[in-house]
Amino acid sequence: MKDKQDMLWVFDMDGTLYSGVDHVWGEIEKEMVRYLHGLGHPVRFDRTEQDLLRVKWQTRQTTIAYIHEFRLDFEEVIEETHLPILGNLVVELRAGAQSIQHLPGKKIVLTNSPESFAHALLKKLGIHHFFDAILGLRTDVFHAKPNALSYQRIAEGHRVVMVEDWEENLVVPHQLGWATVWFPEEDQSHRPFFPEHVHKHITSLEELQAFV
Ligand SMILES: [Mg+2]
Repeated sequence: MKDKQDMLWVFDMDGTLYSGVDHVWGEIEKEMVRYLHGLGHPVRFDRTEQDLLRVKWQTRQTTIAYIHEFRLDFEEVIEETHLPILGNLVVELRAGAQSIQHLPGKKIVLTNSPESFAHALLKKLGIHHFFDAILGLRTDVFHAKPNALSYQRIAEGHRVVMVEDWEENLVVPHQLGWATVWFPEEDQSHRPFFPEHVHKHITSLEELQAFV
């Protein structure tokens, strides 16, 4: 029993706990354009501009790239562009999400979304109370997965299982000796093989019980 309680589950949020990430991001994009135009920045916010700024600021996180480019206040951007979309947002939990509450040990969310937004979205989804901690991007924490610095926020000394919808975010966890679980939005069971850093592929979060 002691061993079970020593487990630490690390969940990605977007695409792993709920589906329809493109819809959520589309709503945020509209608010980002409105906000930036309001500040007098003539952004297009199209794919080319986003790619350019992410490369320039060396981040996978688009909001962070724009915050750096225009020297914006992080929390104000989130308040103005992320939190307002939650009211009308339609998002669905991914398969088996309710089973997370029954897993033994500690459960943490490690997301590339802003931390305040993650708290609000998980509350809207009704699963916020399943987790012991929500770790996202903040004014003082800009490192996004798969940057190795992002994973350093997870305490050592546990049996860690990391669950992700993006398999590339499991490379570092594999190197750290964690168990890695890939939960893609599309069924990947037709694949002849999986990358070495994917230890298990699941189609429902209920399958995590197999690790206990
Ligand atoms: Mg994800």
